[in-house]
Amino acid sequence: MKTGQINVQTENIFPIIKKFLYSDHEIFLRELVSNAVDASQKIKVLASNGEFKGELGDLKVDVTVDKASKTITIKDSGIGMTADEIDKYINQIAFSGAEEFVEKYKDKEGSENIIGHFGLGFYSAFMVADKVEIKTLSRHKNSQAVKWESNGSPEYTITEIDKEDRGTEIVLHVSDDSGEFLEKERISGILNKYCKFLTIPIYNGTKTEYIDSPEGEKDDKGQVKKVSVEVPNLINNTSPAWTKAPKDLTQDDYDSFYKELYPMTFEQPLFHIHLNVDYPFNLTGIMYFPRLKENIEVQRNKINLYSNQVFITDSVEEIVPEFLTLLHGVIDSPDIPLNVSRSYLQSDGNVKKISSHITKKVSDKLAEMFKKDRKDFESKWDDLQIFVQYGVLSDEKFADRAKKYTLFKNTEGEYFTIDEYKDKVSPVQTDKDEKVVCLYTNDTEAHYSYVKAAKERGYDVLELSGPLSSHLISKLEQSNENMTFARVDADTLDKLIKKTDEIPSKLSKEQEEKLKEIFEDCVNKEKFTIQFESLSESEGPVMVTQPEFMRRMMEQQKLGGGGMMGAFPEMFNMVVNSNHPNVMAILSKRGQNKKNTAKTMTDLALLSNGMLKGQDLSKFIERTVGLIN
Ligand code: ADP
Repeated sequence: MKTGQINVQTENIFPIIKKFLYSDHEIFLRELVSNAVDASQKIKVLASNGEFKGELGDLKVDVTVDKASKTITIKDSGIGMTADEIDKYINQIAFSGAEEFVEKYKDKEGSENIIGHFGLGFYSAFMVADKVEIKTLSRHKNSQAVKWESNGSPEYTITEIDKEDRGTEIVLHVSDDSGEFLEKERISGILNKYCKFLTIPIYNGTKTEYIDSPEGEKDDKGQVKKVSVEVPNLINNTSPAWTKAPKDLTQDDYDSFYKELYPMTFEQPLFHIHLNVDYPFNLTGIMYFPRLKENIEVQRNKINLYSNQVFITDSVEEIVPEFLTLLHGVIDSPDIPLNVSRSYLQSDGNVKKISSHITKKVSDKLAEMFKKDRKDFESKWDDLQIFVQYGVLSDEKFADRAKKYTLFKNTEGEYFTIDEYKDKVSPVQTDKDEKVVCLYTNDTEAHYSYVKAAKERGYDVLELSGPLSSHLISKLEQSNENMTFARVDADTLDKLIKKTDEIPSKLSKEQEEKLKEIFEDCVNKEKFTIQFESLSESEGPVMVTQPEFMRRMMEQQKLGGGGMMGAFPEMFNMVVNSNHPNVMAILSKRGQNKKNTAKTMTDLALLSNGMLKGQDLSKFIERTVGLIN
């Protein structure tokens, strides 16, 4: 037996490791299982290049938990270690400035990813164990098996032992305050999270499966009986779809891989992109487009980042642009530096390249789909649009590329690119200042009467819904000088698309004043401003409008979560058409009739806008019923 001191520059490295990794103790298992997988891969390589001539045997990793003896064991049949190798790889934690490094990064976010990259992976075992044993037999012929043992102080012992099978067994004696890791579910949970796609089969005990009775026994109903059997519980799929060539995969393979990634998601994705880059950086992966509808929040953070099939994290915000976090799937790259803080990651050249590469791939795929089968692309658009809009708003390069396939749907269900749409509507919807005015609605039900009136004039109306629409049209207006957007209820049609100069009003100043007083009595002044406008007779007598600018400001503020909302009460205009015969007729009515007629007109305007409610609605009905006799 030999005793010695682990060669660290400070006696207190373990307490520091413990504290440093405080938030994420569970990664000890990832580190130890990855070491076991590495050792197994290494023996494979040595066998294939002839350096190892023995039997490879069944290469696998077994993780077992023994609650009674309070141990977790990770066993592999990899290359193993000789006593000298243990000394070299385990005892001499020969990394420079460990203490300095740990001090520098211990409070940084993402620090949990650092440990494996500084030769400290094995020692993460001491986060959960107060004693660790390594029992190992090296691949070399006639090797002596050894056991290394340490209780986390820098002292260790090495003894010779009997061990027949090649490979390493790590035994953790779990400390009292880490009892959670002796729970079967906890361990299988961690393995599922980090080890699901490792390259060597990982087993965790057994599981119960129900199979047809081998003797063919039948139950009462004549069906073959099911019997339970204990089978090895395989954790991982060693060759996940993203590691294969796209030509070897069918749509079904992609669909079932999606299920494998997200067993709790029932909806199938819209389509996928298989990423495969080997220059100037290495990256593979599959990105799935979920059916987003109008939802930009619930589905986020579903991209998993792997490094050589070892799960690293599912928060990839710094690696892909924000709008891409709406996508699902896997990115695997050994080139993404994980040994640094997140803020550093953002400025890392490789990460930037990776990010713009993914953005380009996504855009290329969309462009290709659009070109190849426009009808199919259109059928997916409603699910896609929020993603594309998000991209257009947040990434100039993407916006540029997306121009040719960003679609706009009108109320007839037809789809147009912005250029196509401009060509379509410019003959009738160009105003006297040469601006093409695009009319839109975000709610065909609520704006029914406005849309109908617009169509009767030969105008087209777009359907722009979703939380990003108002931002998007503001952006379009900035880049297309001779184009503006207005919601159908933003003003009267005469004003929305001004064709001629002002029509003269048929009312005198005095008449207008008189009528204004009457109408003002009919509405809630805090919400409505009475506004007389000199319009054509084809416009209704009275209508409710909400100015485009103000409404858009409010919408954008709402989305941005602006705390100013309280300061902006919702306001509407009650527009009275001074040229409408019914309006003029009020002047010749007597007494209470004047007000009643005006009230009926404002109520009708509210009613057609879905805004007549409560007591006002009930009174309106009573008055109208009174008219029936
Ligand atoms: P890293 O894996 O980052 O090199 P570790 O502290 O996890 O750092 O491991 C140090 C070294 O110990 C490994 O590089 C490897 O040479 C050796 N080692 C660890 N686990 C095993 C194992 N299960 N089988 C063989 N060698 C191992």
